Amino acid sequence: MLEIHDLVLGYGAAAAVRGISLHIEQGEVVTLIGANGAGKSTTLKGIVGLVKPTKGAVVFEGTDVVGKNTDWLARNGLNLVPEGRRVFPGLTVAENLDVASVASSMRGAELKAAIADIYNIFPRLGERKDSLSWTLSGGEQQMLAMGRAIIAKPRLLLLDEPSLGLSPKLATEVVRLISRYSRENGLSVLLVEQNARLALGSSDRGYVLETGRIVAEGVAGELMDNPDVRKAYLGS
Ligand code: ATP
Repeated sequence: MLEIHDLVLGYGAAAAVRGISLHIEQGEVVTLIGANGAGKSTTLKGIVGLVKPTKGAVVFEGTDVVGKNTDWLARNGLNLVPEGRRVFPGLTVAENLDVASVASSMRGAELKAAIADIYNIFPRLGERKDSLSWTLSGGEQQMLAMGRAIIAKPRLLLLDEPSLGLSPKLATEVVRLISRYSRENGLSVLLVEQNARLALGSSDRGYVLETGRIVAEGVAGELMDNPDVRKAYLGS
């Protein structure tokens, strides 16, 4: 469903991503792990065109999407949830979901059902649907950011550090909810996470990025058993 071939991305003359290739199959949760500055966020931004590739291809469902903008991609099933919970603080939870749905073609009963779905996945959002978003906790805001991305029923979701700033308990909850939603709905997810143990524990496969290059890849369990990965990213 997504194939990246020899992708090079940079800011000015400096390459941050130096020729990576990866793929994600339908319904898979795939994690990108790596240290600060390894190029994880840049990879996600490159996929949705926020950073222009200097080389390589990004093929989504058979179409080369290099040059397409984020709005086009969102309308066609590929959505990025950037780092840092983008929600409208002055709107309620319900209003935030309404605004997010405007870009989709859903109206009336279909829209109501889609919003009910979000409250099913994230019951806490349902409990707080009339609260202004700035009053939500960090974890609730993260759930709302994901709810906003999921409402239009994307087929591939790119998630940048959904656990950032959350307590370990909430981080685990957020990552597990996404993984469960993927299993139940066939959504493909590319997850960027600092917390490699948490991410691999909820993923099918993973890639390890070091200074812009993929240095290891495999099914999540194998990566977690890989001595180099354990030493560098799992703290053991
Ligand atoms: P982190 O886990 O800290 O978010 P990351 O793996 O997501 O790190 P990136 O944000 O992709 O890393 O950054 C990769 C490299 O590109 C780093 O050296 C970073 O300093 C550089 N970089 C990122 N954004 C910019 C920018 N807007 N302009 C110039 N250089 C940038």
